[in-house]
Amino acid sequence: MDCIFCKIIAGEIPSYTVYEDEEVKVFLDINPSTNGDLLLIPKKHCTTILEIDPATWKHMLEVIQMLYPKLKEKLHCEGLTIAQNNDYGQDIKHFHIHLTPRYPDDLLAHQFNKDLLKSLEEVHQILTEA
Ligand code: 5GP
Ligand code: ZN
Repeated sequence: MDCIFCKIIAGEIPSYTVYEDEEVKVFLDINPSTNGDLLLIPKKHCTTILEIDPATWKHMLEVIQMLYPKLKEKLHCEGLTIAQNNDYGQDIKHFHIHLTPRYPDDLLAHQFNKDLLKSLEEVHQILTEA
């Protein structure tokens, strides 16, 4: 399969790996938003949250809970933003979780087009109607 992250797992493309076990790999994002910006990926290829094995998802949570204190200790970050894109906005079609250490004044921001927003009432109606 022509997948960059599968090639990273196979060692065909180098990566700055910070954690690895039988199920997952964690490595530095090649285009970091902040110092220590990481990608956490399953070794078994899948694309979106609809396909991730629940046991692997649980393991990824455990890995994040193990890594976050280390990031705080070693990088002196003051927070961690976790992001995971599915389909739209997902450039690499191998499931991945962005682990972005946060620092005061890092200016990390997601900008959304607020002109597209419906009212809360309308969205609630859409989401809850049968
Ligand atoms: P997405 O936009 O799919 O949520 O995020 C993909 C991420 O993968 C991006 O942040 C991008 O910088 C990172 N990325 C793309 N290609 C490579 C690569 O070859 N090596 C590493 N380490 N990161 C990559
Ligand atoms: Zn893959």
